[in-house]
Amino acid sequence: MERDKGIHPGLIGFDIDCVVADTMEAFIRLAMDDYGIKVSPEDITSFQVENCLAVSPRIIEEIFVRLLVAPVENGLQPMPDAVAVLTEMSACAPLTFITARPEREPVDRWLESNFPEDVYRNSRLVAMGKHDGKAQYVRELGLQYFVDDRVETCIELAKAGISPIVFAHPWNRGRHSFASIDSWLAIKQRISINEFVS
Ligand SMILES: [Mg+2]
Repeated sequence: MERDKGIHPGLIGFDIDCVVADTMEAFIRLAMDDYGIKVSPEDITSFQVENCLAVSPRIIEEIFVRLLVAPVENGLQPMPDAVAVLTEMSACAPLTFITARPEREPVDRWLESNFPEDVYRNSRLVAMGKHDGKAQYVRELGLQYFVDDRVETCIELAKAGISPIVFAHPWNRGRHSFASIDSWLAIKQRISINEFVS
């Protein structure tokens, strides 16, 4: 049987929040440290966090705004193994990140402060400012695969002929039949890093 060669590193792009960045860890930590509110990861069963937590929408919005405008200052961390896997991929092809975030500069600074300098320089970042319409950017940037945690985005991508890969979280569990991974080591297994190192 012919061996599956895996995905070329230059053909796959990544969402930022809850894919590259551990946004829910930061949300849960800030809720506890600064507002005294205990949230467990399993409680977050909806992408619209205000729909599943008994926390004031004003506080939820305040925490997310902090992570949007000042991710570095609020200690937003990369997901486990994300930096290592993306660093390996970056030796083969530029990295592409496409986020719904409205502000590019704070997330650009976050990438710069969390990745080795050459990896950061060899990356592309699009801040769309809206949740819908990702397929257009994914296609324009020449990608065939995209890793995202939002089911609606993955449905849109699939309709546009792009292969979505869902990063598994409680809010997307059981809500789709797309390819899915639950860690960066699982992403690494799908990508043929060594084949393309020259
Ligand atoms: Mg996301």
